[in-house]
Amino acid sequence: MERPAGFTDLMELQAVDADVDKLLEDRRNLPELAEHAQARRIAEEKERAHDALADQKRILDRDVSRTEGELEVTEQKLKEQERRLFAGAMSARETENMRMEVGGLRRQVTVMEDELLELLDQSEGLAEEERTSGEQAGSAREYEARLAARIDEIQAAVDASVERLRERRRLIVPSIGPELLKLYGRLRERRGGIVVGEVSGRVCGACHLQMSVAEFEEVTGDAIPQCIHCAAVLVV
Ligand SMILES: [Zn+2]
Repeated sequence: MERPAGFTDLMELQAVDADVDKLLEDRRNLPELAEHAQARRIAEEKERAHDALADQKRILDRDVSRTEGELEVTEQKLKEQERRLFAGAMSARETENMRMEVGGLRRQVTVMEDELLELLDQSEGLAEEERTSGEQAGSAREYEARLAARIDEIQAAVDASVERLRERRRLIVPSIGPELLKLYGRLRERRGGIVVGEVSGRVCGACHLQMSVAEFEEVTGDAIPQCIHCAAVLVV
């Protein structure tokens, strides 16, 4: 019985398809992808930490402004009362009250000044922390971007290899008979892996099992011989 054309070409087609599958599988499982996902998580964490510090700093700076404003108002009030106190022209009782008020205002000013110094100190410390966390977030993002660029590079190289293999595939396909090609496609879809095997000493090249003389004679009588064990197309 005459064989459909392209049995040997089918072996080559299978080799090309296996190479494409391998490349695409590797592309999906690049170790750099997991590394990049982790780098992104770290960068996001660092950015969140930096944002939290920046928020904290903004709140603290508002407290500083408010305290500065309150201090200014209290200082003005103190100055005014001092001026009135030293101007005299008040009864002894009024003078005593005024003196007590001035004393109270002075204590308030001292407390506020201490508070302001404490706040400014905190703000300075926070500014330093914010700067450091900003730098950390920045370098984490840079590392992530470098990995992303590396992945793009690797994937572009894989895509180019795949494209070259597909070009070769397009050249091989026309020399394989349509029935054979259809069967090959069906077997690959259903079973995947090796679906074409070269026969050597009645042993199937796909599953490596041997056929008896009678079995072998029977299958080789078919237009498209297939292994009785694994259904692979046999190249005899
Ligand atoms: Zn087989």
